[in-house]
Amino acid sequence: AIVLGNGMVRPLMKLMRFQTQIREILDGVKRMQPVLSMREGRAKTRQTLTSSAVQLSGISVSYGNRRVLSEVSFAIPAGRVTALVGPSGAGKSTIASLLGGLVEPDQGRILVGDCPLADIDNVQRTATIAVVAQDAFLFRGTLLSNLKLGRPDAGEDQIRQALRVAQAEAFVDALPKGWHTHVGERGLTLSGGERQRLAVARALLANTPVLVLDESTAFADSRTEKYFYEALHRTYPALTVLTIAHRLYSVKDATNIVVLDHGSVVASGDHASLMQTCTLYRQMWQAQAPQQSGSVNQTRPAVLPG
Ligand code: ATP
Repeated sequence: AIVLGNGMVRPLMKLMRFQTQIREILDGVKRMQPVLSMREGRAKTRQTLTSSAVQLSGISVSYGNRRVLSEVSFAIPAGRVTALVGPSGAGKSTIASLLGGLVEPDQGRILVGDCPLADIDNVQRTATIAVVAQDAFLFRGTLLSNLKLGRPDAGEDQIRQALRVAQAEAFVDALPKGWHTHVGERGLTLSGGERQRLAVARALLANTPVLVLDESTAFADSRTEKYFYEALHRTYPALTVLTIAHRLYSVKDATNIVVLDHGSVVASGDHASLMQTCTLYRQMWQAQAPQQSGSVNQTRPAVLPG
């Protein structure tokens, strides 16, 4: 048996901690590898964006030889909320992945202003479009370090503002150490909804002109979800938002609702016109009606931007 002197224990423990950190960094790099290699080989440049409006034109995407998006075209106007709705498996999250640079189209193009998304480098894309994925991921560290990832110089007021809009302020303040609480390994375990709220706050804090929310407001009920959109517009009026929404009631007031089915856009418009012209939208609305009726009457009128 090897007996360690007192003086050796501490450096050894330090070494072991260091090893764990290296393993975590390598895991992170491994996760990024497909994205990085996908983007290699094509010269990417910095571009000046003329507008935060996003236009998808003739986008097709396949996973292996299975096509999941077919010639999808629609506009996401600047400074407004556009809702993307459709049955499960329609391809909604694939559109979020495209905008996040995790998936590349087989054909078609995405413009931000008049700049093709494919031509801008990863750093500029990340500074232009923030995507909050369904499974919000938090890194080991404090809540604060997680929040400040996209904006290390964020001030306390900006952090509070983002937390408030994301409806995370109350639960963070209720923690004994507030936003200095550790999360992850041996730290606080957060519920899925709490993680989602923090991920939304982190994306807001990153201050990108475009925000994509993939079922990111599922933490809220219909009523608080509406308050979220009101607060979002009031606090960040210039933000261009694409929200993938399961609950149609929460995006009912958007003037731009895009209906996706089996990888194709089947209709777009506002709620009233879609109820008249789109059978699928009407069926989805009717299927959700029993869940919505409970909160409709209690909800104060909310106006969605756009
Ligand atoms: P949901 O509302 O259930 O989240 P969705 O409309 O967001 O569904 P996507 O997640 O975009 O749909 O999936 C579209 C289709 O592509 C589905 O049939 C799905 O099984 C398939 N798919 C998604 N990601 C992958 C992947 N990485 N590899 C292979 N197939 C995938």
